[in-house]
Amino acid sequence: MRIGIDLGGTKIEGIALDGSREVARIRVDTPRDDYAATIEAIASVVADIERRAGARGTVGVGIPGTLSPATGLVKNANSVWLIGQPFRADLEARLSRGVRIANDANCFAVSEAADGAAMGADVVFGVIVGTGTGAGIVVQGRVLTGPNGIAGEWGHNPLPWADGDEMPGPRCYCGKRGCIETFLSGPGMTADHERHTGRRELPTQIDAAAAAGDAGALETLTRYERRMARALASAINVLDPDVIVLGGGMSNIDRLYEQVPRFWADYVFGAVHSSADSSTLDSQPRGVGKGGNSERVRTRLVRARHGDASGVRGAAWLWPAE
Ligand SMILES: [Zn+2]
Repeated sequence: MRIGIDLGGTKIEGIALDGSREVARIRVDTPRDDYAATIEAIASVVADIERRAGARGTVGVGIPGTLSPATGLVKNANSVWLIGQPFRADLEARLSRGVRIANDANCFAVSEAADGAAMGADVVFGVIVGTGTGAGIVVQGRVLTGPNGIAGEWGHNPLPWADGDEMPGPRCYCGKRGCIETFLSGPGMTADHERHTGRRELPTQIDAAAAAGDAGALETLTRYERRMARALASAINVLDPDVIVLGGGMSNIDRLYEQVPRFWADYVFGAVHSSADSSTLDSQPRGVGKGGNSERVRTRLVRARHGDASGVRGAAWLWPAE
């Protein structure tokens, strides 16, 4: 049995998986600003789950931050009472077992790679676009972290192939300007829409207005899709993932899955341009012709399968099947 814990700023959620099947789920409030109580709350969730399930499990925890590979201490966490704490060592001592800990966006990517929308794919880029942007990379079922613990944090790169009016771009909380996050997050779309139309609307409202034929909303969505296409094309040029999975609130915009791959063809190195793209998408084998013939992009863009549960499921999957 695998136990996954999603440590959020307001809730701690725990689940137990038997294979892909959920056998228990518990939610408790996060003891805000109290580190010792947070450790105890996680321990009690694990104990409750094991009592209900009648079995002992492995434990993986997703956190809103990361563990410094150098020091083992928590960093980059918006739950600030965790910062600088030896979270894994303390939790391992309290639970008397090894514990795996990963950034929550990495857990999302692990979940979708294990038994979600990217199941079976070799290289997965999992992207959460909601109030912010987070991303994780999974290679053959294992999450990539890296010596700085930031693998996948593409949201704080600048928007690539920026137009004149996109530079220097909106201010980001990280201190830079024009980060991908400032354009692709939900608040980013709302701000862009307001800049162009003077109307302050949520992404769901903009999406609905565009579907009803509103020209301003349609233009906002198209700008958004082109920006997401450029941002993801730059990730494809580095990582060349088999699948890109979208999660978070913005992943519910249906148009993205058709529009973004159409636009990213203009930016992925060596790809067939969108205007030349044909409908025979699956019939063209790789490596046709010689001398620099361009090809269609084979990376797939898909919506997350497990929705909000991806984070906690991915925490459980931090202990993959051997
Ligand atoms: Zn930033």
